[in-house]
Amino acid sequence: MPGGKTATKLESAAAPVGGPPASGIVKPIAIILFGSPGSGKGTQSKYLVEWLKIPQISTGDMLREHIHRGDPIGLAIADRMRAGSLVSDELVNQLVFERISQPDCNRGFILDGYPRTPAQAEEMMRLLAARGAGEVVIHLVVDYNIIISRISGRRACPVCGTLYNAVSRPPKVEGICDLDGAALAIRDDDREEVVRERLAQYERQTRPLIEFFRATSDRLIEVDASREKPDAVFERIKRELQGVVGQGRLGRDQARA
Ligand code: ADP
Repeated sequence: MPGGKTATKLESAAAPVGGPPASGIVKPIAIILFGSPGSGKGTQSKYLVEWLKIPQISTGDMLREHIHRGDPIGLAIADRMRAGSLVSDELVNQLVFERISQPDCNRGFILDGYPRTPAQAEEMMRLLAARGAGEVVIHLVVDYNIIISRISGRRACPVCGTLYNAVSRPPKVEGICDLDGAALAIRDDDREEVVRERLAQYERQTRPLIEFFRATSDRLIEVDASREKPDAVFERIKRELQGVVGQGRLGRDQARA
């Protein structure tokens, strides 16, 4: 349901997500950021990390790290990533499983770029159930043409990974990272032909998951992320999340971690 509207139902689980029940047991919150490449998942993740003090788990970043290190995983996936194709479900499922088992995920985590296929979605539901985590899905809805113009203006710092955009987030000095002075570069998979392939993959394999979430999750927030600036989109996400999880609970309890 695009257009900033919300489809939400409060869950009646004994351990509320993000807040302590009488027993003192807190259910970790899994925030799943869902949306096409360029919809702003990475940017919204950063805001959520700062607000909730829970880690962001970006499968794209984890995979790029392997490529950067040139380890066996990196060597095995480099060609697929460069072409804008998805890497295998087995690999990302394993990476996410290992990551969410770390102690810093005890109170919750933000999944950015996962799940992307039906097999990943099913595995994720199993992983979350095993971890005792309650999920909230945030769908960032953005128009196709806006996506193309956003991604083609994107530049990344090869040293610290900060993303800039010629229009919406220019660096102070053109072509130079504000944080470490490195020369900004176009990410290999942000070249236009690759972007089109990534969007095609998204349409084919990932967008249909929204039906899966509608059927399996009673907490799905759909936010129009086309028109407003990222901070305004975040304010809306915050309000919607508080509505779903319980006013005042999020942020305060997560921050106690
Ligand atoms: P974007 O969301 O802008 O496409 P990401 O950094 O999330 O950027 O992903 C970049 C690339 O990493 C994808 O095109 C794909 O090759 C790979 N990738 C990331 N997450 C997954 C995933 N969950 N399953 C398979 N491949 C993935």
